[in-house]
Amino acid sequence: MSNLYTKKFTGRSGRRLAYRLAYGCDLMEALQAIVEDSQVRFGSINFLGSVLRAKLGYYQMHEKRWLTLELDKAMEILSGLGNVSLKDDKPFVHAHLTLLDSEGKVHGGHLLPGCTVFAGEVFVDEIDIETPPRRVYDPVTGLTLWE
Ligand code: ZN
Repeated sequence: MSNLYTKKFTGRSGRRLAYRLAYGCDLMEALQAIVEDSQVRFGSINFLGSVLRAKLGYYQMHEKRWLTLELDKAMEILSGLGNVSLKDDKPFVHAHLTLLDSEGKVHGGHLLPGCTVFAGEVFVDEIDIETPPRRVYDPVTGLTLWE
């Protein structure tokens, strides 16, 4: 095995699910409910839409701590990308957002609770795999990464 990657997971295409999000819901909460309700344990997520406000994270790698960026304005979701894997034996969403404001400025970051949905369309592509990856604490990065 190459030392350029430390894990490889092989599965097959599973269910392909699509959802329209409810106006006013919390984006992170909605994505998390989607994977829990449908018991997706491993897969990819992509979503589009718009938010009324946003809360994003930036990980300061050297300090190993999160900065929080709060944007109290309506923005387009240009791109929402994420994945689902297991954390503490439950499906767990990790997602990033690229947002556009009314002045044409782009903001982005790690999706945190606190993004209020105006409209949202979500696709979930499940990967069927016997043993999905589990997130465990990684001392090198300070993050919970796939074991
Ligand atoms: Zn992230």
